[in-house]
Amino acid sequence: MSHFVDVILPLPLDNRFTYSISKDEANFLQAGIRVAVPFGKSKVYTGIIAEVHDRAPEVYEAKPISQILDEAPLVTSQQLKFWSWIASYYMCTEGEVMRAALPGAFILESESIVQLQKESEIIESELKDDEFLVVEALQNQSSLKIKEVEALLDRKSVLPVLNRLMAKDIVVLSQEIYEQYKPKRVRYIKLHENHESEDAMHQLLDNLSRAHKQREVVLNYFSIKARSTKPISAKELQKSSEVTASTLKSLVKKNIFQEYYINEDRVGFDGEITRKHIEFNEYQLKAFGQIKASFEEKTVCLLHGVTSSGKTEIYLKLIEEVLNEGKQALYLLPEIALTTQLINRLQAYFGDKVLVFHSKYSMNERVEVYQNVLNAGDDPKVVIGARSAIFLPFQQLGLIIVDEEHEATFKQYDPAPRYHARDAAVVLANFFKAKTLMGSATPSLESYFNAEHNKYGFTELSRRFGDVLMPEIEIVDIKEKHRKKRMTGHFSDRLLKEIEESLAEGEQVILFQNRRGFSPILECNTCGHSPQCPNCDVSLTYHSHSNQLRCHYCGYHIAMQQRCMACHSDDVSTKGFGTEQIETELKALFPDHKIGRMDQDTTRGKHGYEKIITAFEDLEIDILVGTQMLTKGLDFRNVNLVGVMNADNLLNFPDFRAHERSFQLMLQVAGRAGRTKKRGKVLIQSYNPHHQIIQQVSTNDYAGMYKEQLQERYNYKYPPYFRLVRLSLKSRDFSKTNEAADWIAKAMQNVFNQHVLGPEFPPVARIRNEYYKNIMLKIPQSQSLGKTKSVLQKILISFNAISAYRSVRVIVNVDPV
Ligand code: ADP
Ligand code: ZN
Ligand code: ZN
Repeated sequence: MSHFVDVILPLPLDNRFTYSISKDEANFLQAGIRVAVPFGKSKVYTGIIAEVHDRAPEVYEAKPISQILDEAPLVTSQQLKFWSWIASYYMCTEGEVMRAALPGAFILESESIVQLQKESEIIESELKDDEFLVVEALQNQSSLKIKEVEALLDRKSVLPVLNRLMAKDIVVLSQEIYEQYKPKRVRYIKLHENHESEDAMHQLLDNLSRAHKQREVVLNYFSIKARSTKPISAKELQKSSEVTASTLKSLVKKNIFQEYYINEDRVGFDGEITRKHIEFNEYQLKAFGQIKASFEEKTVCLLHGVTSSGKTEIYLKLIEEVLNEGKQALYLLPEIALTTQLINRLQAYFGDKVLVFHSKYSMNERVEVYQNVLNAGDDPKVVIGARSAIFLPFQQLGLIIVDEEHEATFKQYDPAPRYHARDAAVVLANFFKAKTLMGSATPSLESYFNAEHNKYGFTELSRRFGDVLMPEIEIVDIKEKHRKKRMTGHFSDRLLKEIEESLAEGEQVILFQNRRGFSPILECNTCGHSPQCPNCDVSLTYHSHSNQLRCHYCGYHIAMQQRCMACHSDDVSTKGFGTEQIETELKALFPDHKIGRMDQDTTRGKHGYEKIITAFEDLEIDILVGTQMLTKGLDFRNVNLVGVMNADNLLNFPDFRAHERSFQLMLQVAGRAGRTKKRGKVLIQSYNPHHQIIQQVSTNDYAGMYKEQLQERYNYKYPPYFRLVRLSLKSRDFSKTNEAADWIAKAMQNVFNQHVLGPEFPPVARIRNEYYKNIMLKIPQSQSLGKTKSVLQKILISFNAISAYRSVRVIVNVDPV
């Protein structure tokens, strides 16, 4: 009988691929093990075995696998099931899910390496100079990578040289799979066994009486040893003895010390548990009870709790219970809410049971977290991470917390899989018969709707913990202020006065502005022209610190222009405003105070974000100006005033969720104010103070907002009443994009009639010289989602068969946000 494996490859191809294996291999291999397999002409890929079986493929001859890469499955059967669900629900391939799900280091790719032909005789005089260099190098090391040959010859095209050497039978080229993950090895020092006896020790110290430094190190070693039983690392010993690495080396050479290595986690936690108990107040107690009761019947529960009401404490308690049952817990939150503050809070309670999965972690760190989850065994852990943490190899998942569940960043936008981590988490939890708790101060309409219709359990916390009052919200009509000339730059007199008072009290201030950068665009006051990106359909934005005009989509930039590029008038000015301009104005208004700014520009790099937060916590910043990032679950003790610089540019965003989003954003920023005894204050500046949403924010009227927005969604056929699938077409050819969009839209209209919207140009219809067009499909609740998708899939297959449209790419986004 023949044996085969079906393998998932990390490629956007629809099928699994079948390879042949031997009988022995068939006995050993199982789903979830990685194998290296040949694919295409000369490529080797890492694939995951999805199934071991004995059915020969019908249309092609199965090639044998090249290599087995694991001793035991790296991917669990639950994960494989989950991948397949994601691929089918979000209309992408399992290979694309694999790429997103596994840390890059697990997906080994092949590399050509050059080696000397063993038996060949080399006559050096017959070699050209470059050939000689390669041969010489290979005589000193067994193999070279193509990159290394390039470096050696200092040129890019080295294949001609290698071809000549191959023709002469001097070298061979082969493919090698290599592991990218390297465990972190720490060097430790111990006394050589020769000196372990008391006598030997004294003898040793005598012998070293002339070598002061070395003697010092040995004495130091003994004193560390006397203090603790922990192994002594070379680094520690060297540092505490204040000697160089070479002193230590020579002690090793003399067989006085011995070196040994231990693999060490990069992600370990070696602090202490500083908190033992959680004591709920009566509201938390009640909410906790309701959550537990709802879990008796339902798998999902929504916790609607105002900012600072103690939701996190409830999460901790639930997680603790799950860990005590020997199960794992997953704590999901939006990337930017994944702060050191919160991680410390978890570690203070759970110690080393906390695993953090962070996209800013290095590849090696992510591999370690993955392996820690996979091998957790009897020591259950709580994993805290952003959306991609749903792909970790959980064994016994008992609970998923989705904190800030309303956040749009739970949805992956690009590349595929375009999954929504909150929604996928519910499916994942069901695989394990685990429970999901979603929490938010401003739930998404969808989740609240599910709770209202009894699909989810529901509970509320409507007071802040410790009787802290909700902040007082005041709306400032800046149209009026402008008319009465009471504006200084972008600041109303009200806001300035409040800032002055707060600063005088020694308190800190947060100001929220929705756009980053300085005055976004440059505009000519004579002809109205503003400089555009040549690659995208957007105006360039002005960045004052670099004095450039930049495109936010493709990075194109030119120097700031003093004259209009169209009519050469020098009457140009900047329009609109962003965080950078607010910062500049503040510096002029409050020269004696420290101003900080937090946006995408100031938080680059691994610790950029933490640095600003720490500086703010340490009171090194008096006024912090920032974008969206400020809204996320931060807990600052000394902030009593929050200002929203301009509510209108949030509200005017062209999207059916704009109003819901504005409400959420403003309430979340407001939530940063007054988290201690003193009542906080929030000032919202707006040209439309009577806008419903602003009124609802000012009275913290979630229910009112929900009711009104829901009506709009019903009227205009949007979620939660209709599901959406958005197709985006793009190509470098404007008319091809148009024609293709018409073709697909027509095919869809034949089946789905009036539920097809578009084709329409998106607000930015050209990015990096590619033209975009969108088609939206609305799916009523009564219509089968599965059937709809399979019809859509068929249309796309027919479309892909049309050679004229081959250059047009179609991106499918299920449940776009
Ligand atoms: P939320 O997650 O709803 O914003 P938190 O859980 O962060 O609220 O609670 C707000 C503040 O109140 C935090 O500083 C927290 O430590 C404190 N707190 C909440 N509940 C308790 C409790 N039961 N015991 C002690 N402190 C609490
Ligand atoms: Zn002009
Ligand atoms: Zn551009």
